[in-house]
Amino acid sequence: MDKKTIVVGGGASGLFFGAAAPVSCGSDILILEKTDKIGTKLLMAGSGHCNLTHAGSIKEFLLCYGKNGSRIRTCLYRHNNLECVRFMEHLGVPCSQREDGKIFPASMDGRDVLKALLKAAAENSVTIRKNAPVKAVRALPKGFEVTVGDGHTGVHTYRHAGKHRTFICENLVIASGGASYPSTGSDGSLSDVLRRDLDIPVNALRPSLAPVYVQNYPFGLLSGISFKTAGLKIYKRDCERVHEASGDLLLTHKNFSGPLMLNNCRYIDTGDKIQLDFIAPHSAADLRSHIKKALKGSSSRTLTSFMAEEYNLPRRFAAAVLEPLELKDKKLSSLSGVQIKAVSEAFAAAEYSVSGLGSFREAMATKGGISLDSVNLSTMESRVYKGLYFIGEVLDIDGDTGGYNLQFAYSSARTALDSIYEKNV
Ligand SMILES: Cc1cc2nc3c(=O)[nH]c(=O)nc-3n(C[C@H](O)[C@H](O)[C@H](O)COP(=O)(O)OP(=O)(O)OC[C@H]3O[C@@H](n4cnc5c(N)ncnc54)[C@H](O)[C@@H]3O)c2cc1C
Repeated sequence: MDKKTIVVGGGASGLFFGAAAPVSCGSDILILEKTDKIGTKLLMAGSGHCNLTHAGSIKEFLLCYGKNGSRIRTCLYRHNNLECVRFMEHLGVPCSQREDGKIFPASMDGRDVLKALLKAAAENSVTIRKNAPVKAVRALPKGFEVTVGDGHTGVHTYRHAGKHRTFICENLVIASGGASYPSTGSDGSLSDVLRRDLDIPVNALRPSLAPVYVQNYPFGLLSGISFKTAGLKIYKRDCERVHEASGDLLLTHKNFSGPLMLNNCRYIDTGDKIQLDFIAPHSAADLRSHIKKALKGSSSRTLTSFMAEEYNLPRRFAAAVLEPLELKDKKLSSLSGVQIKAVSEAFAAAEYSVSGLGSFREAMATKGGISLDSVNLSTMESRVYKGLYFIGEVLDIDGDTGGYNLQFAYSSARTALDSIYEKNV
């Protein structure tokens, strides 16, 4: 037996695991990282500021992971956001909470988080090996054989390996992340290895926390305009409404983005229709009656001025919505009933056909991954293989923006650690 526990992946969850390991067990832990860098996404997180978690009741967290949220209740409750903050502060990283509830290291520097986790892992005598891509896994009667490639060759199996080394361990913790930002090393390829070698069920991987592209996107010149509260409704091809939400919407030069789109893209497929309300909470019906009332009084006002002033919209945006209707310079007093209806829908029920989501190069998380059905979510252990654990984004869990993904990386790592520690000590 080389090590009691091997962790595959030196990203956020693998590092939380190593840093939180009991000192008495640390020397039995080996982290294998494919690339020559450790914790790459921790450094990218929150644009370098590292949004570690979110404040507030842990109950509310369950709503921030799509339909799988309630399934990770035990793990989130047991190792919650308060504990995550306490843990970082114990490692010498004071945290601070922003007005919107997001929690960051007080220095606003993700490098401090990474440094502290590496220091703690080293103090626990955890070994980290870089340039160690796991290419194959074999279940033994007790434990696992893990084959590591040389880091420079393509995928090969342990049977046909060129330059490789094998390790034997009792517990194997898979912390290899999702498939977003594949240049970081998290490219989803280990899921294929696990499916091939251990027949582990993997739900199809797709981008999450991604912007949404629509056909004939009309706001290419209005990049940067945002809406504090916009409304979103999602319709499938059969016109069934499957989801609705409201939140911050951002126009970019080629797609709809901002938390409203990023957090809800997990419900959107290519070919769906989305309906946007740029003046939410006001509906198209509200706007219709508002215009009807207003046109009796201020007859000389143009529709662009009316929309910009009454709904606090950027003038350029109001004009861009009215331009294709040829109503940009139209006076309120001269609007027909048909035109009022068209204007109301253009601002409060604008429909777009989805042409696709941002790719894994743009998405900040991954939907899909190791099926939760195959894992005991109170311990993070496989239901089939004793000693095989899954933590972090490799699982079919994707959180909203706001620190929810790093919180899950933390909670799942601690849960697996509890289970292995209790078993081995
Ligand atoms: C730009 C960006 C910003 C983000 N900002 C935030 C934020 O502010 N807050 C937040 O909560 N979340 C944020 N996230 C999401 C968060 O970073 C991830 O959910 C989190 O890092 C997942 O941790 P993980 O350990 O599961 O995977 P990762 O951190 O992705 O680590 C996986 C590691 O496994 C390694 N690996 C993969 N395959 C193998 C293999 N075969 N052998 C050996 N090693 C392997 C990879 O190289 C990688 O180092 C952001 C993501 C991105 C892309």
